[in-house]
Amino acid sequence: MKIGFIGLGNMGGPMAANLVKAGHAVTGFDLSAPMPEGVTGVTSAAQAAAGAEVIITMLPNGTILRAVAEEVIPAMAPGAVLCDCSPGEGQRARAVAEQAAAAGLGALDAPVSGGVGGAAAGTLTFMVGGDDAAFATVKPLFDIMGQKAVHCGAAGAGQAAKICNNMILGATMIATCEAFALADKLGLDRARMFDVVSTSSGYSWSMNAYCPAPGVGPQSPADNGYKPGFAADLMLKDLRLSQQAAEAADADTPMGALAAALYAQFVEQEDGRGMDFSAMLPRFEKRGRG
Ligand code: NAD
Repeated sequence: MKIGFIGLGNMGGPMAANLVKAGHAVTGFDLSAPMPEGVTGVTSAAQAAAGAEVIITMLPNGTILRAVAEEVIPAMAPGAVLCDCSPGEGQRARAVAEQAAAAGLGALDAPVSGGVGGAAAGTLTFMVGGDDAAFATVKPLFDIMGQKAVHCGAAGAGQAAKICNNMILGATMIATCEAFALADKLGLDRARMFDVVSTSSGYSWSMNAYCPAPGVGPQSPADNGYKPGFAADLMLKDLRLSQQAAEAADADTPMGALAAALYAQFVEQEDGRGMDFSAMLPRFEKRGRG
């Protein structure tokens, strides 16, 4: 397939590289990131989109995505599909889908879970919103870049799934970190704590796959000085999206609201900016109840 790829950073770079390895022709555009081997670099988003059957975007935020979509949609070939893998608001996804449909194009919102490791290994999970035809076109590419693609519903449904997933992730990471800090103060060895919880009812992805305690459990950012990984500021961005969505839908989400407030404090008033989101553990370690 002829693919245009826009945004080849930590996530997009390895995703595009996997498409090349599988034999697809990928044309890429990024403002600064180097092109992965085999990707043909061009000097504008419109050039990357021209003649492509699928255009994939993996960009830092919604404002940038909207600007790129404005540029790319007029340059796309009839019937092509714009597949946005960046996380964002459902409302944005629906607006882009409407704009694409008016131009005779397909559109999908397809945010991912699995992080940089999943992008490199081709084991991401895609949560996809959009119509059946567009999903069918891009499905073979999801199967290369990921281990699972769930068609969640109409435009915006992928973003809804992502927001709900990350609200759970933010809250469970905080719960896991505060429990480790409590265990420390109760004199419990961290390796024993991990052994128990990872095989008991307190287990979660935060504990089992991404343990916030260094030297305990599988290799994670905690073992690398809490260098991201998944940055605390990106978690804060996602938690704020979940709270905006909850407000718009009149959903009661007290744990999500508290997680958003704690990550805001960590990133904006403490030393969390630039740290992995699991660096909540050293934060709790230093604190008492006061
Ligand atoms: P990144 O900053 O490494 O990559 C984004 C890339 O977009 C950069 O290379 C940047 O130069 C490029 N870019 C910015 N504006 C552009 C423009 N107008 N045209 C072309 N390129 C442009 O970020 P990342 O870690 O790859 O994450 C991308 C998105 O995926 C973020 O929204 C993030 O929240 C999300 N995400 C990240 C992870 C993770 O673990 N890192 C996991 C899931 C989702």
